[in-house]
Parts: sequence; structure tokens; C-alpha cells
Amino acid sequence: MIKQEFKAESKRLLEMMINSIYTQREIFLRELISNASDAIDKIYYKALTDDSLVFNQADYFVKVTADKENRILTISDTGIGMTREELENNLGVIAKSGSLAFKKENESKDGHNIIGQFGVGFYAAFMVADKVTVTSRALGSDEAFKWESEGADGYSIEPSEKAAVGTEIVLHIKANTEEDQYDEFLEEYRLRSIIKKYSDFIRYPIKMDVVGQRPKAGSETAEGEAPELESYVEEQTVNSMVPIWRKNKSELKAEDYEQFYQEKRYGFDKPLKHIHISADGAVVYQAILYIPENTPFDYYTKEYEKGLELYSNGVLIMNKCADLLPDYFSFVKGMVDSEDLSLNISREMLQHDRQLTLIAKNIKNKIKGQLQSLLKDERDKYETFYKAFGRQLKFGVYSDYGMNKELLQDLLLFHSSKEKKQVTLDEYVSRMPEDQKFIYYATGTSIERIEKLPQTELVLDKGYEILYFTDDIDEFAIKTIMSYKEKQFKNVSSGDLGIESDADDASKDAEESGSQVLFEQMQTLLSGKVTKVKASKRLKSHPVCLTSEGELSIEMEKILAAMPN
Ligand code: ADP
Ligand code: MG
Repeated sequence: MIKQEFKAESKRLLEMMINSIYTQREIFLRELISNASDAIDKIYYKALTDDSLVFNQADYFVKVTADKENRILTISDTGIGMTREELENNLGVIAKSGSLAFKKENESKDGHNIIGQFGVGFYAAFMVADKVTVTSRALGSDEAFKWESEGADGYSIEPSEKAAVGTEIVLHIKANTEEDQYDEFLEEYRLRSIIKKYSDFIRYPIKMDVVGQRPKAGSETAEGEAPELESYVEEQTVNSMVPIWRKNKSELKAEDYEQFYQEKRYGFDKPLKHIHISADGAVVYQAILYIPENTPFDYYTKEYEKGLELYSNGVLIMNKCADLLPDYFSFVKGMVDSEDLSLNISREMLQHDRQLTLIAKNIKNKIKGQLQSLLKDERDKYETFYKAFGRQLKFGVYSDYGMNKELLQDLLLFHSSKEKKQVTLDEYVSRMPEDQKFIYYATGTSIERIEKLPQTELVLDKGYEILYFTDDIDEFAIKTIMSYKEKQFKNVSSGDLGIESDADDASKDAEESGSQVLFEQMQTLLSGKVTKVKASKRLKSHPVCLTSEGELSIEMEKILAAMPN
């Protein structure tokens, strides 16, 4: 047996990789299982063109076995296996991917699911193991070979025995140190949860032996006495295999989507609405998105992190990919799976690429479409949604220099003086009397308080509708929109209301009647607090009201003054 050394560069590369590519050690299992799945896929593809090969689904699986006592974790598969040369080339040469080569050779075949491409995932095993032994027998060969390595020092290959075609990877799990714990990678429940997290949608069964206890057969017991128990081992499939998002929409019920929402812990509430996308255009992806019913407790805080889960070919890559959602739709939960992503080498992050941008744009439009149809067809649901997240939409209109106002303005609701409920801008404008020039609004801390504002009287008297703004952000959002269907917005407390026989004309009467002297005196008394005191025709039952001139309304001035610099 000749021990071969890694080349110097490879040594450094391997060390670097083992210690710095991945942020989480548990990833090693995802990598080894992905390789096993690729190996089975390769037999599957070969069988497509080779009549002597029959692909019998039941024969193909991955098995994960933990032996706590001996600190051994084994991952075996019934895949295509590796010849001596392949062991040498694929495991002895870092960054060489047999799978990438296979994919290229078989590009013409449909629906490839092969995951590997960088030729580094395998070495993640050294994050948790101080020795790795790979025994493999290639398809069509009677011989088996054993590849063994203790990390950066090199590897050895020698002939071995293996009864069936496939690969068995034995990891000698590292001993715990003061800083680092490795025992968890020998615990059944922990391994299970890692498999569920990253590899739940691998298309082949991932099996584990589960130890249980049951009453011993034939051990009849008297009533009240505990039966004698025996341990037994049962093989269970851990992964769900077919992801819900790959299923046909017609096969799925609302409960299936709800269950997925809960399983994934997207929220503790029930989703208000789901969106299932299967895009087959310029970019191929599947997605299941949810509009939650309730505002998460931390939603309007800095702690809230937006993002969707991102899968590449059924394997989880990122828990929260923020780039997939614009801020104004940050409430959306769910996942995206695509074959077309450019992953970086750790497969934890993405290159910022065109595909991702396309998917994000696509998703944004789908969400908007869903909200619009909710608004149109299920108004109650929309209002529930709006109560929870409407504020975020208004922020969306206001932020980014109003870039998204066109997209969002039709989704806004405001309380209406006429309807006594929330209405859209479109509803407002469509019932405006012909002589009405502006969309009127009034601001205040509550509907009740706005109703008492003297400034609303004249407008209401004309039979015009007023939108009541009770949220700080409302007026900022409206100022960003500027006009809707060519109608400008007008605060009822602004100087010029655009109503005939407006306030200004009243000052002439006042001058003539001699009250001008009184106003001047009042102005001196209130100097620094008001700029002008004048007569007004807009008042009916109230003796006085405040109005503003220029761009900022009184309320906006208050908010801006209260904001920290
Ligand atoms: P990648 O999967 O990105 O190609 P890896 O470092 O994970 O890179 O694996 C390197 C190569 O080793 C794979 O491309 C594949 O050719 C081979 N390989 C790894 N594990 C197995 C396995 N279980 N069965 C067959 N071949 C394997
Ligand atoms: Mg791999």
C-alpha cells in the first residue's frame, strides 16, 4: 500500500476548506447525502439509455447509521459507485467534480437533478471526522476499493470487499474538546433533524435505524402489571422525498398548504392566502409563498428579518434569502426552488446573478397580483391583511424616492367619511362629483378626532368625501403619490381648498367690516405661533380653525419636529 501525498496547494486548499468555507458543521451531512443522491441519479440516467439496466425504485436508497460506542457514522448508498480511478480523481483531487462532468456528458437528457458541481462538498466530512473511509464498488465491476484519509496529510487507496454496487462512507467522529462538541453527530434525533432540514426533498429514501421498545411477545401479564419490554430496531425513512411544491396544484388542498406552513414554522398563525408558482419561462423555478394573517410580534422592529427559503434542486441552500423580497412585501413567507441558480462554492450563498433578479421580479409581480385579486374578490380577507401589513405598503410607497408608488398605490386603503369604512383611491375617485377638483383628506390621531375638526365642515358640506389619515405615514405616502388619476390630493386644513367662494374672498368682507383691526391685534398676541390671522368662509359651526400654507401640513410639521435628527 503506497501512501500518496496531496500536492502542497491541495493541502492548503483542503485546510482552508475544512475550516472556513462552511459556517455550520452540520452541513457535512447535507453534502454526503447529496453525493449519494447524485450517485443514484447516475444509475437512473444510465438506465434510461441502457436496456440491460433496470431501475427498480425500491433498490435505491441512502442509509445513515450511527454507532455511538465506536464513534462511527456511516452513510451508504446503492448508487453508481466509484472505480479505483474515480476514487483517485474525484476524492483525491480537490475541486474535481465527477458529477459536473457527468452532467455535461448527459446534458441532452431531460430533467437532470444532479446536485454536485464544485468538487468540494465531500471534504466537509473532515469538519466532524478525523478519519474518513470510503469503500466503493462501481456499477459493472466485481472489485471494490477503499479510499482512506485523515485529512490534509493525504490518502491511500487499496483493494477491498463490498457485496453490492454502491458506496459506503465511514466517518470516525472527532472526540469532544473543550471548545467543540461532536457527540451530537452520533445522536439519532439530531441526525434526523439535520436530514429533515437540508435533505428532506432528496428524491430517494434516506433511511435510519430507529430503536424502539415494545412489550415482549408471548409475555402475558396479570392486569395492572407492567409488561416485559424488549428493544427492537426498525428501519424508517426520514425524508419526505416529494416536495409539496413539485406536486400538481390540483392534487393539493388548502390544508396541505397550511400544514406545510406550520411544519416549516413560517408562522404560528394560519396563512391568510397561499401562492403556488411553477414558472417555466425565462427562468425555471417553483415557489410556495404565504401571506400571513397576523403581524409577527417583531415585524415593525429592526429585529425582523425578511426573506424566503431558497432551495437548489430540492436541497436547502439558504434559510432567509432577503434578495428575493422587496421591503414592502417583507411580510411574505415561503420558499423558492430553482435548478438555475449560480451557487457559490459553499452552497450557502448565491452569486448575485441574473437568475435571482429575474425570480425576485417575477415573485414581486405574483404577490402584487394575489393582493389585487384578494382586494377584488375577497375584500374581508384583504382588510384583515391590510390591518396587519398595510402600514408596510405605505412605507413602500414613501421609501425609495417613490419608485414603487405605481405598483403599490392601488393596494392602499383609507377610512372614508362617506362609507365609514376603508376605501381604495380608485373607489374614491370613481364617485367624485364632476365639480370636485381634489382628493380631500384630513389627518388626526383617530377617526373620532378627525370628525370633530372644523376644517372638514366646508368640504363635507359640499358633499365631497374625505379620506381620514390616522397613521403618521399616511400623509407622507400621499405626498409621494402626488396625484391619482390626475387628481391631486388636498389636506382640508390647507389654505386653498379649491372650492369656490374660498377663504381668501372672505378677507375682503372682513376688511370692509372693519374686523381687520381685531385680526391684527390677535396676530401680535400670537406672534411666533401663527403667521397670519384672517377671516374664513369655510367655518360653519366652529368659530376658528388652523390652516397651513405651502407643502407641509400642520401634522407633517409635528411629525418632522418630533423626529430625531
Ligand atoms: P461535487 O458533489 O460538487 O461534485 P464532492 O466533493 O461532493 O463534489 O464530490 C466529488 C465527486 O466525488 C463527485 O462529483 C462524484 O463524482 C464523486 N462522489 C462523491 N461521493 C460519491 C458517492 N457516494 N458515490 C459516487 N461518487 C461519489
Ligand atoms: Mg457533492
